[in-house]
Amino acid sequence: MLSALLILEGKEPRAFDMVYLRQKSSREAIAAQTWQCKFCGKPMQPRMGAIRSWYFAHAREASECPFEAESEKESPQHVALKRAAGEALRQHFGTQVQSLEYEVRFPHIKRIADALLILKDGTRVAVEAQLSPLTLQQLQGRTDSYLRDEIEPVWVFLEGEAGGLKEGGLWDKCRDWLLSEGLLVLTARATITQTAMTLPELPV
Ligand SMILES: [Zn+2]
Repeated sequence: MLSALLILEGKEPRAFDMVYLRQKSSREAIAAQTWQCKFCGKPMQPRMGAIRSWYFAHAREASECPFEAESEKESPQHVALKRAAGEALRQHFGTQVQSLEYEVRFPHIKRIADALLILKDGTRVAVEAQLSPLTLQQLQGRTDSYLRDEIEPVWVFLEGEAGGLKEGGLWDKCRDWLLSEGLLVLTARATITQTAMTLPELPV
């Protein structure tokens, strides 16, 4: 996952994400710190390769971690998709952004949003990056649970080879329904090498 809690003696644990850390800190400094999972409190290890984008992983098996149960199975592609979407939305909203946090849990709906943007006027935007197909009913259920909490979800789907969304099937139905509800749909390429990251296109 992209986020973890920094544990410093005598200080409140604080969440950081790898997108920020990679810009502001060094590999050595990050590796020297103590990191914990935001959801289960178990130790986390930073993974900081030369090619693959950086992320945190549970140090050992953490099958009881809510993150495993409540979010889409974490693959390098999924990490890339949520990071691309989170950063594109941060740019899109610009100075309106108060905070962007990756991997935010909403216990009462048993969901972990891939990212949550809070704007200065108090509005909240949740990012749901979806690699594996889900039914229209599942998508509507998740969307409605966010809307009931006055959170606007932005869905991010994997872009097809030729750009845009893969033709046919469930994706079309999901996209059509989301657009008919007035919600934003993004497509992104899950480029897993950070240096070649392509940001999703936003409508003007
Ligand atoms: Zn955990």
